[in-house]
Amino acid sequence: MSDNWISIDGDEDAGDLPEIIEAESADFEADDDAALQLALAAARAEFGEFDEDLADLTAKTSQEGWPVLAVVGRPNVGKSTLVNRIIGRREAVVEDIPGVTRDRVTYEADWNGKRFILIDTGGWDRKVKGMAAQIAAQAERAINDADAVAFVVDATVGATDTDEAVVEVLRRSGKPVLLVANKADDAIIEMEAASLWSLGLGEPIPVSAQHGRGAGDLLDAIVNILPAEGQGRMRGAGPRRVALLGKPNVGKSSLLNAIAGSDRVVVDDVAGTTVDPVDELVKLKDSWWWFVDTAGIRRRAKEASGHEYYATLRTQAALDRAEVALVLIDASQPISEQDVRIIAMAEEAGRAIVIAYNKWDLTDEERRHYLEREIDRDLVQVPWAPHVNVSAKTGRHIERLETALEGAIAGWETRVPTGRLNQFLGSIVQSNPHPIRGGKQPRILFGAQVSVSPPTFALFTTGFLESGYRRFIERRLREEYGFDGTPIRILMRVREKRSRK
Ligand code: GDP
Ligand code: GDP
Repeated sequence: MSDNWISIDGDEDAGDLPEIIEAESADFEADDDAALQLALAAARAEFGEFDEDLADLTAKTSQEGWPVLAVVGRPNVGKSTLVNRIIGRREAVVEDIPGVTRDRVTYEADWNGKRFILIDTGGWDRKVKGMAAQIAAQAERAINDADAVAFVVDATVGATDTDEAVVEVLRRSGKPVLLVANKADDAIIEMEAASLWSLGLGEPIPVSAQHGRGAGDLLDAIVNILPAEGQGRMRGAGPRRVALLGKPNVGKSSLLNAIAGSDRVVVDDVAGTTVDPVDELVKLKDSWWWFVDTAGIRRRAKEASGHEYYATLRTQAALDRAEVALVLIDASQPISEQDVRIIAMAEEAGRAIVIAYNKWDLTDEERRHYLEREIDRDLVQVPWAPHVNVSAKTGRHIERLETALEGAIAGWETRVPTGRLNQFLGSIVQSNPHPIRGGKQPRILFGAQVSVSPPTFALFTTGFLESGYRRFIERRLREEYGFDGTPIRILMRVREKRSRK
């Protein structure tokens, strides 16, 4: 993020959050009303041309338009290993879910300053017959959403019938393809990889995903093949991702069992022992949801003493992969520091938040009275988070979680058109101007919502807006546009002092 931008929530890095917005320029045209024109003119008078700054900021807070690379290939050729190599870290690998085509997992990647989105495909039932057809279908889905494809083949095995089936799909798609000859751990295999020319996809690129050999060349090739502007859009159709969070013993596994019940796509017994997160597709009321890292939830339940450091890491990892955090709090106990910390983590991660007060069956009137007071005292930072009082034990109100989750995600994805926003900002500046400080009165000249998920606003101002005023603006934004269940980010660009000449 440019140094000129002041991130108002102390969140320096609003940059890695996915979103779905229209191009800002299109937006300008779409609603060029008087308020917008006025605000723009005022801001231009102070800041000069800033469209580029804004576009830059929009690009940084959004994945809209990033190029997308799909990684396809049959099982065990090393796709996951390659994805981890490309994104440069050990990232969670979602286990395959028998009988169900796994939702694709997307990652952000960056090579020499060029960013792109990576779709890791996989997740078919290895025991099911007709695997070639399944893989082809799976690959087809991913390819549709991608700008280019990395087709991974095992160089130590050579081309198989299944590989040929995928090649057919690739040809039909007309998308540019990179043929990746993986497991080329040494020069000999690297030479043998040349036989993959026979697939008719051009020159095979030998790499060893495991050892890193050839990875730089592959990344160069990827960046070359991807268009500058792609079909990037991190979130899409399909089940939303929920991180079920809470300190030990609040009832996470009980709740998961209660909602999952029979309507659940289970990963087999390995789930309890694996180090990798396991996601479960769960039907809450009418819709399906991905509950991320349920292995972590189930495993923690078994551990007598959940080590807090690892619990925190795990919480963070689950948040990274989720769109909405469902935070469980034990209603029968006083709200603790740890509860507050978990909510703060979700907020900092920029996720939509729903709070569920569990063990409601254990509360009596007196306890509920105190709980309300604790909420007022300890959860002041998230008055906007919807809450549901549930009992994992009796099943009370569990189905209501769905409405709450949907509402929070809707708030998280709310977008205010630039024209309306400036009309609104103009009216608050008029009715409630910033207090005068040292003879000066900072004004907001222009504002734009540069991203959703979470909603992020950029304000151009003539002076530093103090925190009370910023909170006031956030409150008014919420009243006006109903950002239920979502944090809001406000970035501020203060006109720089004219340099002495
Ligand atoms: P996927 O099913 O295509 O995602 O494959 P994985 O990434 O899970 O890898 C399958 C197996 O191949 C694992 O045991 C990896 O350790 C191994 N593997 C992946 N890349 C390489 C490589 O470059 N060289 C060798 N020798 N093994 C690899
Ligand atoms: P986790 O550590 O967050 O996964 O918590 P568990 O699901 O293991 O639950 C901790 C304890 O709380 C267990 O003894 C559960 O039976 C109990 N528990 C969970 N939910 C409820 C509830 O809604 N009501 C009551 N009375 N007990 C519950």
